[in-house]
Amino acid sequence: MFIHESTIEELKEFFLQLNEPPYRAEQLFLRIHKHLSLSVEEFTEFPKKIRNYILENHLFPVLNLNYYESVDEGSDDSGTQKFIFEYQDTKESRSRIFESVWLVSEKRRTACISSQSGCSLNCTFCATAKIPFKGNLSTWQILQQIYQMIHHRNKHVDPKEKLTNVVFMGMGEPFYNYDNVIKAAKILNHPKGLNIGSRHITISTSGVIPGIERFISEKQPFNLAISLNHPFNEERSMLMDINTKYSLSDLLKVVKKYTQIYKRNITFEYILIPDVNMNKEHINELVKIAKSIRFCKFNLIPLNTNFNNWRSPTQEEILKFQEELRNHGVLAFYRGSPGKKINAACGMLALQKGISNELKV
Ligand code: SF4
Repeated sequence: MFIHESTIEELKEFFLQLNEPPYRAEQLFLRIHKHLSLSVEEFTEFPKKIRNYILENHLFPVLNLNYYESVDEGSDDSGTQKFIFEYQDTKESRSRIFESVWLVSEKRRTACISSQSGCSLNCTFCATAKIPFKGNLSTWQILQQIYQMIHHRNKHVDPKEKLTNVVFMGMGEPFYNYDNVIKAAKILNHPKGLNIGSRHITISTSGVIPGIERFISEKQPFNLAISLNHPFNEERSMLMDINTKYSLSDLLKVVKKYTQIYKRNITFEYILIPDVNMNKEHINELVKIAKSIRFCKFNLIPLNTNFNNWRSPTQEEILKFQEELRNHGVLAFYRGSPGKKINAACGMLALQKGISNELKV
């Protein structure tokens, strides 16, 4: 076990085995998840023998922050920052590289984090799909992306800046790493950790139905988002290979079940690709879907990559699409492409220094 992915109960067990009192568990949890210590040397409230035990048994590894880049001041999305992390797993003798993004808006500070290194799926608009898949991230690797970003921001940007939101929308399909993702979300939500409200934590799936079913049956309190991207089954399969496994109609059935049980909006993410999913027939079908689901909203995201000779929509095309949905009473939002200049926008993770060398295309 690693101490930075253990619950308080698991840490109690750990200290029991070391013949240490149970209160140490909460102390350690606070040290790691509230005070965000990244080095055992900072565990000053613990006796040296405990610190040495942790060090000698390698129970507290840290990620290497390999690279970061910010959007220049003066830009609409200034403050957006991209981070590339690496972890060299000595047991597996290979390294995992993954990326995270810190997004700044007027009211929010959002950490967009990865759940896998690469992705086993192949969404045709996504750069992550073009690099080799290196596996699931463990709970501590998911959490530490956030903790290191906070450290970096507090040290270099604003010592008082606080994280408000977390989205699992970086590299990977979160529901293919369900246990570690949910455990990380619970630790982020924990009152003795960062205490991020469950409604401020969003897990986004490409449509892994068993994961959604499990999420519902476990009554997980976090927000759910679905990467929809096309309203017709066959065409969606061409955009996203997951649709050949879990069809659109089955996906929409389980989404409806979610909204009926949770009585809250589900978010559909929709990458806008001219001539592919932005025509009149697509709008009409999206309106039908929205009416049947009832509790839903759309986040419209312009295509940020240029695979398959597609082009990004113009501002005019985006606003027209949004307006047509809204005219039919559908909630549709457009928040631009923060971080596009630094390859940090949606679909672009892997298009940056370090990882781009591995692109298969
Ligand atoms: S969009 Fe998400 S699920 Fe699809 S390939 Fe990219 S990372 Fe994987």
